[in-house]
Amino acid sequence: MDFTFTQEQEEMRAHLDSFLKNICPDEYVEKCDNDGVPPYEAYKALCDGGWLGLIIPEEYGGTGGDAIDLAILLEETGKRFEELAMWLFRTMTWGAFAIMAHGSEDQKKFFLPKIAKGELSFAFGLTEPSSGSDAAALKTKAEAIGNDKYLINGQKVFTSGMDISDYCLVVLRTSQEDMKQKGISTFMIDTKKKGIEIKKIDTLGHRSIGTTQVFYNDVEVTKDDIIGEIGGGWKICDSCLWYERLCLSAARTGAAEACFNLALEYAKTREQFDKPIGKNQAISHKLADMKVMIELSRLLFYKFATSINANEASRHEAAILKLYTSESYKTITEHAMQIYGGYGFCMEYPIQRFFRDARLSVIGAGTSEIQRNIIAKSLGL
Ligand SMILES: Cc1cc2nc3c(=O)[nH]c(=O)nc-3n(C[C@H](O)[C@H](O)[C@H](O)COP(=O)(O)OP(=O)(O)OC[C@H]3O[C@@H](n4cnc5c(N)ncnc54)[C@H](O)[C@@H]3O)c2cc1C
Repeated sequence: MDFTFTQEQEEMRAHLDSFLKNICPDEYVEKCDNDGVPPYEAYKALCDGGWLGLIIPEEYGGTGGDAIDLAILLEETGKRFEELAMWLFRTMTWGAFAIMAHGSEDQKKFFLPKIAKGELSFAFGLTEPSSGSDAAALKTKAEAIGNDKYLINGQKVFTSGMDISDYCLVVLRTSQEDMKQKGISTFMIDTKKKGIEIKKIDTLGHRSIGTTQVFYNDVEVTKDDIIGEIGGGWKICDSCLWYERLCLSAARTGAAEACFNLALEYAKTREQFDKPIGKNQAISHKLADMKVMIELSRLLFYKFATSINANEASRHEAAILKLYTSESYKTITEHAMQIYGGYGFCMEYPIQRFFRDARLSVIGAGTSEIQRNIIAKSLGL
């Protein structure tokens, strides 16, 4: 497998590095996290720069990039601010990719040019209070009223960014006879529709954008809002998972590297017992392990991006990627906090933010236990 980047990709990475430092400096990140305010200005700058159109075909106003380009964008954004990367990822996966892969021609013509211009952002509503890991047990229903209309009733939980999104890809039960994966459909719903109530959830990390619970009370939609076939919603979620796993892993590895760089610098400059703490093997071995985890995570997600480009991505490869990169991110932030000593525990220093944000990575979008189940199943167990 060839892991060399093209010259264009190297230039894109270098451009993103300086662009992101400029639009998303450290003090801005700290303020967004402390005040619980989304990085509106930085997101707008990315929209204005055309980055939301990266994977959208040129005929719909995008730049027609591939999965490697997407991974570079998310890795570089994650290095600056994971919440900014999450906002990008949601729009590019649950908006752009879902519509590119499963939307009708009319939906493509309506949504894709607007996404490419950065005019619309998207959320994803799958999880419900009684269906988390067992996501296909969802109950929120879209009931057909006549030939054209549907009425939605129920509750979703953990719909991240719903309050700042224009549309949400909502996964709903359209048949009561077919339970689990069958009888599920996906609707692209305007978040401002009558009958939708959004409540913010207070969380340990990801405090800038965070997540919400959403109540649907007699929300009226039409069959034009359905993405793909009625009853084919589970397959759509599954196909989008490739992009979700790729984006999350790239963004979190970027964040892990930023956290590692801080810890490395601290280990070189913080002196105790008349020498830098990094001169102690207990500290330097932690940093060596962190470096190995970052290298392996990068190899895994660029390998996965290559598989997506070749149409060869598989469910168990996605699970290996999600499990390794998220567990590594969590471990790296734990090591960084230990290296920072008492200062790592202080809100004044950024390590605590990485530590809090990383804790979600082994829970959200499929827990580590569920990833291990998928990998074990692929081994015939
Ligand atoms: C901040 C945040 C943001 C999120 N964003 C979104 C979003 O935008 N959209 C969305 O739809 N969802 C989102 N989620 C939901 C997330 O994907 C779920 O929380 C996750 O899938 C786990 O579901 P649960 O919380 O209900 O835990 P549960 O499924 O109740 O699991 C609880 C524990 O039991 C374990 N467990 C469950 N089943 C098994 C099993 N079969 N084998 C072994 N262990 C098992 C789990 O691994 C876990 O440790 C978000 C969650 C959070 C916290």
